[in-house]
Amino acid sequence: MPDISSLPPGTMIGILGGGQLGRMLSLAASKLGMRTHIYCPDAHSPAFEVTPHKTVAAYDDEVALAAFADAVDVITYEFENVPAKTAEFLAARKPLRPGANALAISQDRLAEKAFLASKNIPVAPHRAVESLADLEAAIDALGLPAVLKTTRLGYDGKGQRVIRERTEAAAAFAELEPKPLVLEAFVPFEKEISVVVARSLSGEVKSFDAAENVHRHHILFTSTVPAAISPGLEKHAAMLAKVIVVALDYVGVLGVEFFVVPGERPTLLVNEIAPRVHNSGHWTEAVCLTDQFEQHIRAILGWPLGDPARLADAVMENLIGDEVAIVPTGLDGNTQPHLYGKTDVRPGRKMGHINRIVRKD
Ligand code: AMP
Repeated sequence: MPDISSLPPGTMIGILGGGQLGRMLSLAASKLGMRTHIYCPDAHSPAFEVTPHKTVAAYDDEVALAAFADAVDVITYEFENVPAKTAEFLAARKPLRPGANALAISQDRLAEKAFLASKNIPVAPHRAVESLADLEAAIDALGLPAVLKTTRLGYDGKGQRVIRERTEAAAAFAELEPKPLVLEAFVPFEKEISVVVARSLSGEVKSFDAAENVHRHHILFTSTVPAAISPGLEKHAAMLAKVIVVALDYVGVLGVEFFVVPGERPTLLVNEIAPRVHNSGHWTEAVCLTDQFEQHIRAILGWPLGDPARLADAVMENLIGDEVAIVPTGLDGNTQPHLYGKTDVRPGRKMGHINRIVRKD
């Protein structure tokens, strides 16, 4: 039987990862009277600025990990590439929510696709690629264009190449590391949407409205709610997201990215799942009764979930690199800024986001 007792205010929540997602989780936890302890190897992490409790150490430093586990009551994470050994080590000492299985599956594109397919959730046609011969065979099977991706450690478009001509195959294969790779058929999608879903310790599931996402240079640029899709498709996306969290026996918030494939009746393919709060859910902070960060904290504490109802339309826009200069003088009265406290402005770096709220009188 799972322990479904809820943790009280004052609980020390351990968070693996010190990026902006960890920072926003820490802020949400503080609002509920909790304390947070951030564990991250990078001494200049944005999350360190919002809590006095921190560990700067490598993810394989078992002395530091043991001390961290002793200092906290429950452990969560803000990124999916937590090493499996680290997750196991910590889970043996304190509750790790979401669990290590969600990490193992989402860290590996092939494991993720196999898991989704086993639950009858549609994914893009794909083939595992370990050698150039595998790639040639995969191209024969799937046709071109196709997208060659690393199975691990890819993010924001890193670790993938579109192959349009056979002559590009060898170079793409040589370039992408680490191996093995996966070749995916190119999906002629009409749009991309995502659903942020939450499951509590007692098994309750609630999802936020689907967001419509636009990428620029492979990085999320905007998330808009409502997504311009039919109510039936929106319901279907929420249903698939629910199947995923139930199948994983998941506790916390999870992001599911979908391709909307055009047709007489548009259909959905799952591109990716992320076992954490998600960039395409940042709009929830501006217009939902409970935002994704509070929802995640509630879930890992064993609390009932909050109401994810959306009270207004909104557009979230990431501020990448020097776009952050829009704050404060470029904002209008319907815009909520959120900066991550990063001092080093670099091209392609997520510095903050703004939520444009569409007010209805
Ligand atoms: P990913 O890292 O898998 O989330 O891919 C990043 C972005 O590349 C996606 O959001 C899509 O815009 C695009 N993309 C990835 N895989 C495919 C695919 N199989 N077909 C078409 N576009 C893709």
